[in-house]
Amino acid sequence: MPKSDLILLALDDEQILQLFERALTAVSYHVAIARDRPALDKALQESSPALVIIGQNFDGGDELEIAAGMLERFPTQPVLILLLKDSPELVKKAIHIGVSDCLYAPLHTEEITKSVENSIKRADRIGDWTRREVKRTTASLQHRLDELKKLDTVVEHIEDGVIILDDQMNLLLINPAARRGFGLWQDEDVNGKPVNEVLPHPDLKILLNESITNPLPHNEITFEDGRVLSAQCTPIPRIGVAITMQDITYLKQIDRLKNEFVHTVSHDLRSPLTAILGYVDLLDRVGPVNDQQREFIHRVQNSVQSITALVNDLLELGRIEAGFDSQKEVVPLEGIIHYALETLSGQITEKKLNLHLNLPQGNPQMRGNPIRLRQLLDNLIGNAIKYTPEGGEITVDLESQNEQVILRISDTGPGIPPADQPHIFEKFYRASNVPKGVGGSGLGLAIVRSIVDNHQGRIWVDSLLGQGSTFTVVLPLYMQAVTKPAKTP
Ligand code: ADP
Repeated sequence: MPKSDLILLALDDEQILQLFERALTAVSYHVAIARDRPALDKALQESSPALVIIGQNFDGGDELEIAAGMLERFPTQPVLILLLKDSPELVKKAIHIGVSDCLYAPLHTEEITKSVENSIKRADRIGDWTRREVKRTTASLQHRLDELKKLDTVVEHIEDGVIILDDQMNLLLINPAARRGFGLWQDEDVNGKPVNEVLPHPDLKILLNESITNPLPHNEITFEDGRVLSAQCTPIPRIGVAITMQDITYLKQIDRLKNEFVHTVSHDLRSPLTAILGYVDLLDRVGPVNDQQREFIHRVQNSVQSITALVNDLLELGRIEAGFDSQKEVVPLEGIIHYALETLSGQITEKKLNLHLNLPQGNPQMRGNPIRLRQLLDNLIGNAIKYTPEGGEITVDLESQNEQVILRISDTGPGIPPADQPHIFEKFYRASNVPKGVGGSGLGLAIVRSIVDNHQGRIWVDSLLGQGSTFTVVLPLYMQAVTKPAKTP
């Protein structure tokens, strides 16, 4: 049923105007008339008609140009063009600019009302669809906005520090916890600034440098007031990198107290152990002992020696962790490897192991503590010997690459179960497949890792059960400063 929509008529011909007026009012449309273009503009602004009907050459102008201008300002306005006669060319152009329909003389009342009704219905359908789409898109945008707001609130309030950098290492986001950690004013605008300028902390610099080669680097950031943050870098595709930080100061304090306790106990155990061993050694000198007594004495000696070795390892670990023996000098690595192998050669021969040694040209050097580096080799090669069955292979590889020296110690021993691999560098940890009768305190690799850490290196193991293990140590190469030769006169 026709409705009381407003139809705006922009027609010059009085007869046609009356025909339209009559036809439309007869079916209850409201009709407004614009006699010239200013009146048409005014009516459009003020009344938002359901349909505008523009006659050909209205007010001496080009009807298509008028319609195009109108649709540019009011893109959803239904427009109908009344042509003087059928012209497929003009109809094509009219449809092209977005006109709803074209009518041409001679006209019948029914034809007029039908065309008006169709144009309005079509516009209504488009309007409904647009409203539905707008509602749907707005709801989805609102949902995403809510999610973003939630995320924003979480990042703002969590106790962990969060820093997001772009791929040029400029700051995109730094949350209040991270600002507090680095002593940055909460309202200081640092967005877009280089992280190295805003947060010039050497430990953070090391972490970011490492993120270039290592996909998930981790480092501890220590502040002068004793606070320690555990920081982790994670690459974020198409954005850059995220750094998350947790305050581990209290864990470090507990660790320090525990280390001090262990150190004190180990230290106090040394003297009584030396005394026990001394007196046990004297037993057969002060009187005759029978075979069984000799056997028991031997067992006591072995046990006391194991405890003494454990206590010594603990004291060593304490010293390394506390950063003693930190003096460093330029160390030629080949020399240290030869020295370690010489000391262990007796054990290698005894177990009939085949040793392969691959050293690079040029004897790479590094800055380090020779005693600790020697200890590192003793432990790694010592383990390879200890865990590899008789007749097995041991390979020691050294190579220098870019600014690093890479040391690999491989064996054909029992390998380490995957579940144990992440823990073998922890204190007192022994893998579940340690062969029966192979002794050890579980401290050797903890000592090795501390030495590697003290030399700014990295260590990891690759191992296959039943096939063997390879321990890889990467240490910074010593680069001799290049000085220009003095000019000779
Ligand atoms: P341990 O005194 O027990 O040898 P380490 O700290 O040196 O202690 O090593 C920790 C554990 O790692 C060992 O108990 C062993 O299970 C495993 N492991 C270390 N090196 C090897 C190796 N070359 N082959 C197989 N297992 C190894």
